[in-house]
Amino acid sequence: MAVTIKTASEIALMREAGRLLGEVHNELAKALHAGMTTKEVDRLGERLIRKRGCIPSFLGYGGFPASICVSVNDEVIHGIPGPRVLKEGDIVSLDAGLIWKGFQSDAARTHIIGEGTPKTRQLVQVTRDSFFAGIKMARAGNHLHDISNAIADFVEPFGFGIVEDYVGHGIGREMHEAPEIPNFRQKSRGIRLRPGMTLAIEPMINMGTWEVRVLSDEWTVVTRDGRPAAHYENTILITEGEPEILSIADGVR
Ligand code: MG
Repeated sequence: MAVTIKTASEIALMREAGRLLGEVHNELAKALHAGMTTKEVDRLGERLIRKRGCIPSFLGYGGFPASICVSVNDEVIHGIPGPRVLKEGDIVSLDAGLIWKGFQSDAARTHIIGEGTPKTRQLVQVTRDSFFAGIKMARAGNHLHDISNAIADFVEPFGFGIVEDYVGHGIGREMHEAPEIPNFRQKSRGIRLRPGMTLAIEPMINMGTWEVRVLSDEWTVVTRDGRPAAHYENTILITEGEPEILSIADGVR
């Protein structure tokens, strides 16, 4: 599949979709607390998405049974919401996607319930910061893998594992469009970045090994060593200058 270049009117809709998703994440962040079940997080997320006139894109995608992926501690991504009760110190990754007027937005945030430990706080911070290190390279004229290598350069000194089995992606009318966007070191440069490309960049970083496996529910991806993981994602736009982060609202990252 070819990489799609969005027109000005398509970009305007992607910008709206992104802002709405940013609002959903901000509301979820405020609501998250110890004692809440992951299913309650999902129900709230779905309500926040629908309240804005949007469609939750994850619900039913490939058969996924919920609107929000809620991945706790050693769960990296694709955690299925259920009866699990969140407790102090849990690392909770929330991945959400929505469709607004035919256009998709996709974003993830990782939160710690309560204080966490210095090590879990560092993991969450490094994961988020690695996204920002990556998008410094997300400029027209650079190449796709400049983003990948910038993320790897940032994360490697911390000794954390970078997930290789799952990667970021182009996004637009479809949630997953070309190209794939690895977060780990690449030998080739990849395609040249052009204005109008919209990309979901999403580093998944493990405290220990980079290796992951999928649970018998066929969705939940966990770390092989059982140590915690974090995830951070935004939908961005390649412009003639600075990249634009689409999936934030009120400046909250
Ligand atoms: Mg994504």
